[in-house]
Order: sequence, then structure tokens, then C-alpha cells
Amino acid sequence: MLNLRMYINGEWRDSTSKGTQDVINPSNGEVFAKATSGNSEDAKVAIEIARRTFDSGIWSEMPNSERALYLFKIADKIEEKREELLRLETFDNGKTLRESGYDVSDAAACFRYYAGLITKPDGQTYNVPGPVQAMVVQEPIGVCGLIVPWNHPLLMSAWKIAPALAAGNTIVFKPSEMTPVTATKLFEIIEEVGIPDGVVNLVMGPGREVGNEIATNPLVDKISLIGGTNTGRHIMRAAAENITNISLELGGKSPNIIFSDANFEAAIDYALYGIYFGTGQVCSAGSRILVEESIYQQFVEKFVERAKKIRVGAGDNPNTEMGPLVSQEHMESVLDYIKIGQQEGASLVCGGYRVEKDGLEKGYFVAPTVFTDVTSEMRIVQEEIFGPVAVIQSFRDEQEAIYLANNTKYGLAGSVFTNDGAKALRVIKKIRAGITYVNTYHLGFVEAPWGGYKQSGIGRGLGTFGLQEFQETKQININLQVEPIGWFEN
Ligand code: NAD
Repeated sequence: MLNLRMYINGEWRDSTSKGTQDVINPSNGEVFAKATSGNSEDAKVAIEIARRTFDSGIWSEMPNSERALYLFKIADKIEEKREELLRLETFDNGKTLRESGYDVSDAAACFRYYAGLITKPDGQTYNVPGPVQAMVVQEPIGVCGLIVPWNHPLLMSAWKIAPALAAGNTIVFKPSEMTPVTATKLFEIIEEVGIPDGVVNLVMGPGREVGNEIATNPLVDKISLIGGTNTGRHIMRAAAENITNISLELGGKSPNIIFSDANFEAAIDYALYGIYFGTGQVCSAGSRILVEESIYQQFVEKFVERAKKIRVGAGDNPNTEMGPLVSQEHMESVLDYIKIGQQEGASLVCGGYRVEKDGLEKGYFVAPTVFTDVTSEMRIVQEEIFGPVAVIQSFRDEQEAIYLANNTKYGLAGSVFTNDGAKALRVIKKIRAGITYVNTYHLGFVEAPWGGYKQSGIGRGLGTFGLQEFQETKQININLQVEPIGWFEN
């Protein structure tokens, strides 16, 4: 049994409350690790240490090229420990080994990208009037409170820790209480590569205690959250007290628009991948499939036929194509939404039940589920279910497709399938979302900004934008001819 502890000021520590939290394998409901469960006092200590360490300059004033070396080493070690990390991710979150493998590779790539980026030129100079040299420099923002969810535990940790560290900040990091395992392994790597004590601190525990302390503590300069929209709302309110800088990467209910002229087989394939990859527990999941009227029936039939064949099973079974939901509570929430859909009058045409056969009885499995005959007002069409539940709606023409696509409070992702290039770009330009695709789904690159419009968030992670989220911008004006100005006569 793994015992996970917090990492504060270079030491592995238990919570001052001595509480622990079971870490459960969602494929079989068994406890496979125990994590110390921190509280607001632990978070406060970590924040004070991060503050002192930032102000000492040991990391914030280190040359960028030197900081980059640590990040390259972290990337190398993630790859060295690939097998261990991907297995642990699968036990912790339930995702398939294949899905975990991608997360491990992407996490290493993220550290490598920011290690490279931080050594590239930044800042600007301006040719301004007068004997003045004006310039702009980027500086680290300070103490960063980083809070991440359970759906990609290692990858989301990398998305936040890599740019924050590259920029020269110190960190207080909180993983989801449900999935602290690979984040802890990442901190072991951080210790191994010799990042100075106090630069990166790990505090586990519930959001309402540890997360809330991070959001309200005046010593924190930046709060960066990946999580649900309600948590984002809470953090925004909490941050208002100290006007703390925030970035929020939140939920979604993303449209996947299929026109009748699309490559039909490819559209089916990507639509399945769009919603069922990660068991639908992906912020950018294509959970609303919009299909042009003339191919709607044919599309639904084929989609359901294929969805029924998806092999549901334990994450560590190499034969599995779709793993369990992350927890019993989350499974119950998804099953509740399925009931709500039926009560709302939608037609349940596939799945809709817990899978409990062939050794899966103790896990949190839900069959790939499809609703048709849905209307825009239904909760299953408007709310993020975060599970393997697709709603398929038909549209008459381009205009209606755009209207339906944007008829949501969210704006994270969106996709269009068509063989008409001009139509694809016309529609994409009208979609109010930050991550869009043409004839594909779930593509993501560390180079490109990630984030949402509307209630899907504020700011952008990844790419150069993701580095700027962790930097302050300072203008410097240098007088090149120092003499009295004579503004006041006497
Ligand atoms: P969540 O909002 O419940 O939790 C996310 C993190 O916030 C956890 O570490 C949690 O402990 C913490 N937290 C919870 N309440 C808090 C509070 N009051 N103050 C401070 N911290 C608090 O989300 P989740 O269930 O872990 O993850 C699923 C959600 O994350 C989905 O809505 C999904 O769309 C979203 N998500 C978004 C992105 C993105 O890039 N936009 C990526 C992954 C997941």
C-alpha cells in the first residue's frame, strides 16, 4: 500500500491534523493508497515558505538557462519512469493504459517545451519621443497557488507546474483529493533533480480547506485552477478580497457539428472518440453531437451500433477501450443525469446503465450512453455531465447548426465535420469557443493555447500564452539625458 505525504520546504510531511484519505482504484473499488489529508493550517505553512523562498531570489533570480536545466531533467525522469507512472495513473483514475500513456508523454513534453521557451528572447523595446529608452520586461509573478482536478492527474499537474516554474515562481500545489498519486511521484522527481527547497510545495486535502486557503491567502500572487465552473466561481469570489490574479480552466459542453457532406465513416469515428475518450471525463468532450437532418437517422444508427461495441473494462486490462468513472459518487451523478434525461422526455437509445458483469461488479462502470429526441432546454443538453453520455440533435442548415452550437453557457471546444473548406472555416469562426477542430477531435499541442470562452474560463494555459499567465509585465523608462526638467518655475 502506498502512503502519500505532503512535500513542504523539501521535506515529506504528514498533515498536522493526522487525517488520511483513502485512494481508491475505480476499476475495483479497492483502496490502493492512503494519502495524508492536509488542512488550511498546512496550506498556510506551505504558502509562507513559498513566499519566503520567492523573496530570497534563489529561484526567481536564477538565470533562465539554469532553471531550464532542472525542467529538462524533470522531463527525462518522467520518461524514465514512464511504465510506473502510467500504471499508477490507471489505478488512481481508472483510465486505460493507452490513455495514461499519452498523459505521461504529454507531461514530459510540457516540461521540455517550457524549459526551451524560457530561454528564448522576451520583452520589448519602444522607440518613444524624447531622449528616453523605453522597454518592457517579463518577471515572475510570485507565489503561485495551483489547483488541479482528477481527470488527468499527472498531465494537469505538468500543465501548471512547468510554466509556473519556468517563469521563476514558487509554487503551492494542490492535486485533487481523489487522485494524488502521480502528482506525488512528480514531486519525488522534483526532489531528485534537486530543485531548491521551498520552491515547489505539495499540499493535499479537500478543496474547501486547502483550496480555499490558497484562494484567500494574501501571500499568494496568482491562483491558477483547472476544475469545474462552480469551483471557478468560488475561487473568483475568494480572490476578489486581495485582487489576486486568477486563471480559470473550467467545464464545457462542446458541440460537434456533422454536415451531410462530411466523410461519414470518419465523422462517426471521431464523434465516438470525442465523447467516449476518457469515459467522457474530459473538459473538451464533444458531448453535444449536432447532425444535419438529411443524414441524422443514418448517423444515429451507425453511432449506436458502434457505441454498443466499445469494450468497457478495468483500466489495466489491455483489452479495455473505455474504463470506469473516477468514483462511486461521480458514477451516481452520471446515472442521475441519465434518469433526468429520461424524465425530460429524451429517448435513451443506447446504454444508460451501470455495467456490473464479468468481474466489473465492484467498479464504477457506466455503458456508453446515447440520447436522441433532445431539445435545447433539457438539462442533459445544457449541463456538463462529465461521463460517457452523448446527446445527438439534428439541424436544418448552417445557420441553425451555429445557433445550436452556441446555445450554451460554456465555450470550451467545438468541431465541424464537412468536406467544404469554406463552410468549415465560416462555421468555426462563428463558434464561441477557445479550442476548435475541423474534421478531427481531441487534438491538443503544448504549443497551442488552451482555454475557454464564456463560463468555460478565463485566460489560456499552454503555449506562450500559458507562460504569460505566470508572469508580470513591467515597463522601464530610462532617461538618456539627465538634467533639471523645469516643470515648476520656482
Ligand atoms: P472540481 O472543481 O471539483 O475540483 C478541482 C480542484 O479544485 C480540486 O483539486 C478540488 O479539490 C479543488 N476545489 C474544489 N472546491 C474548491 C474550493 N471551494 N476552493 C478551492 N479549491 C477547490 O473539479 P473536478 O471534479 O476535480 O474536475 C472536473 C472538472 O474539471 C470538470 O468540470 C472539467 O470540465 C474541469 N476541467 C477543465 C479543464 C480545462 O482545461 N478547461 C481540464 C480538466 C478538467
